[in-house]
Amino acid sequence: MLGFMHFETIDKKSDLEVLSALERFVGRERKRKAQFLVYLSVVDARKLYAKEGYSSLFKFLTEKFRFSESSALKRIQVSRLAHRFPFLYKRIVDGDFTLSALSRLAPFVNTHNSHLLFGEARGKSVREVEKILARWFPQEAVPDRLEKSVKDLSEDKVHVSFTAGREFEKDLLEAKALLSHKYPKGRLEEVLGLALKTLLKDLKKPNSKASHIPRGMSDCDSASDLSSCAPQQRPRFYRQVPKPSRYIPRGMRAAIRERDGAKCQYISPEGQVCGETHFLEIDHRRPFALGGPNTEENLRLLCRTHNVLAAEIVFGRMGRGT
Ligand SMILES: [Zn+2]
Repeated sequence: MLGFMHFETIDKKSDLEVLSALERFVGRERKRKAQFLVYLSVVDARKLYAKEGYSSLFKFLTEKFRFSESSALKRIQVSRLAHRFPFLYKRIVDGDFTLSALSRLAPFVNTHNSHLLFGEARGKSVREVEKILARWFPQEAVPDRLEKSVKDLSEDKVHVSFTAGREFEKDLLEAKALLSHKYPKGRLEEVLGLALKTLLKDLKKPNSKASHIPRGMSDCDSASDLSSCAPQQRPRFYRQVPKPSRYIPRGMRAAIRERDGAKCQYISPEGQVCGETHFLEIDHRRPFALGGPNTEENLRLLCRTHNVLAAEIVFGRMGRGT
């Protein structure tokens, strides 16, 4: 391919060169997207797709150009919206609106609300735009009865749907983030499945804990929380002076997670805070291998990417030319 550079060629450039080239590409990409929408509007207005032998603009995009159905729909919706409100082309070029965000807004915008709605949604993510729409155009909650919420799909699959409150959504997102190591895809079935298994295990537990502790064994031998036991009651292994260990007690992990707002604390030299909420790990600011202690001051939350980056900065590789 003429002018196309492969990984090995680009990998020889400095970090700064790579990043500024990428930024130029993002700018050009947005401009191309906006220009594509204008062309699409003309094709739409002149019904050129029909001239080309397609029954609709949708078929023209999916069959002739192999766009996915959702991608074609999104482009058609946004090109019609931008044709009605032409200032949107510049907003797309400036990165104020993504096509996905505009396609969410499209069915709700009219000449009366456009000014306020576009104003509020400007610069927002798709998720945030959906929240704005839910506030502006609240929908009736669907009353759910268990038997109506579960539909048979096949012998071993069902489809479950229900309406939930914001508190449920908050808990769900938090559980999904906490489980991101275990379930990287974060599928609802996995997260809620584990929640149900844990709940059932808990519900089936016998009420009295004492009744299950064999005679002659104190509560402290079996309880996982040892903090409530007097030191002389604690099992022998707990009384030994511990060697320095990488292990960070659960309580401290929770305290660090809380302090750091359950977000990656990495800050770029330009001041961009990462803030990732998935794949979080606890990082030693001064590495454990270099004598960094397990204290709250020395520990912080980083996402996996930034934990690896932090280690590479200390122990080698990385950082070329910038
Ligand atoms: Zn991060």
